[in-house]
Amino acid sequence: MVTKSIRRGWNRYRSVPIVYRIGAAFVLGSVVGLVVGEPATVLEPLGELFVRLLSMIVVPIIIFTLLMGIKQLSPTSLGKIGGQVVAIYMLTTVIAITIGLTVANLIDPGAGLTLSNAEFEAEEAPSFGEVFLGIVPENPIDAMASGDILATIFFVIVFGLALVLLRERTTDESVRNGVETFFDLAEAGSEALFTLVWGIMEYGVLGIFALMAVAFAEAGVDVFTTFAMLALTLVLGVAIHITVVYLGVMILLLTRQSPIAFLAGIKDALVTALSISSSSATLPVSMSNADENLHVNEGIYSFSLPLGATINMDGTSMYLGIVAVFAANVVGASLTLVEQLTVVSIAVLAGIGTAGVPSAGLILMTLVLTQVGLPVEVVGFIAGIDPLLDRLRTMTNVTGDLAVATLVGHLNGGVDFSSGSWSSETGPVP
Ligand code: ASP
Repeated sequence: MVTKSIRRGWNRYRSVPIVYRIGAAFVLGSVVGLVVGEPATVLEPLGELFVRLLSMIVVPIIIFTLLMGIKQLSPTSLGKIGGQVVAIYMLTTVIAITIGLTVANLIDPGAGLTLSNAEFEAEEAPSFGEVFLGIVPENPIDAMASGDILATIFFVIVFGLALVLLRERTTDESVRNGVETFFDLAEAGSEALFTLVWGIMEYGVLGIFALMAVAFAEAGVDVFTTFAMLALTLVLGVAIHITVVYLGVMILLLTRQSPIAFLAGIKDALVTALSISSSSATLPVSMSNADENLHVNEGIYSFSLPLGATINMDGTSMYLGIVAVFAANVVGASLTLVEQLTVVSIAVLAGIGTAGVPSAGLILMTLVLTQVGLPVEVVGFIAGIDPLLDRLRTMTNVTGDLAVATLVGHLNGGVDFSSGSWSSETGPVP
């Protein structure tokens, strides 16, 4: 009797789409964190478990899906798609910082605030030479083991291309069979990992509840009032960027798809990004959304999404611009146009070499502030609200990656959110 009603309750719970359950957990966790306060931090391991489960599959999912993607692409189309992806990533990032600087100049966050108890150890930022050399791993196993996404992508691409060439050129039947086995393995592996993503998301309901409770218990209510203007500037900038650039221009105008269908298709990735503040750890969910809901060709998303999680950070770059204006206001200075342009270029370049992990923006911020001669202590000052703003940045970063995957998918054969397949008129990527 009891077991029957438990089973019935469980079935009813499972019949609610996962994204609603996660959304409810997000809101409930936030409220519990604010109401209960400090004691809610005991939930931390439950939230950490969710992040670990997702992080666990990031490297294998990149390897398997990328190998499968390369199987479908010729080296020339990979080069063409790669060029488009990187160019759009750079362009949208520059637009994001420009929007951020404009909104910040209008709202003037930080005016009237003074710097106090700001203690922060500035981290040494890597040089650009180091960043670019770092793309080529000295040891690919080490790159995979340490979760170095750019270096892993580089190795898997060159290895995958070698497999494709070998398949074309070899006269040895057993070698050709070996190559096919590699690709078959990758296909089975990526299917299995996507299945795992949904299992992890089931746990995510509890994990996200815990993460939000801890985040709000730690932040408290005060942080909102002190940094209201800073938060408002970011919210406004992000809203403009997402609505105009992603939804309006990229999805509606250029891809000719419904922005609502796009948002509906990526909602799992959005709540996950909001909850875990890491675009890298959100990758398994973004990939599965791009595959199952947006129907972007695997050859494109398997390459563009992992790349985007590292080099495309529109939300973060926008925030860097906003913080530069904030920092100048806090110390009673103002940024010249040249200084603002310096912020733009540093934010774009620095973002490339920084992985999408929680609080990566704080490290980049020290770099930007030092370059324009503003006090790095500001970073310590705003560190209290960062865990909350980081969520918004991450969500923007992930939305940007998915919008670019969709647009590049459209440019190279077409996407159709509703059809569930490639547009029949234009056919798949060669
Ligand atoms: N957490 C962000 C991301 O993973 C980076 C940042 O803004 O700190 O995309």
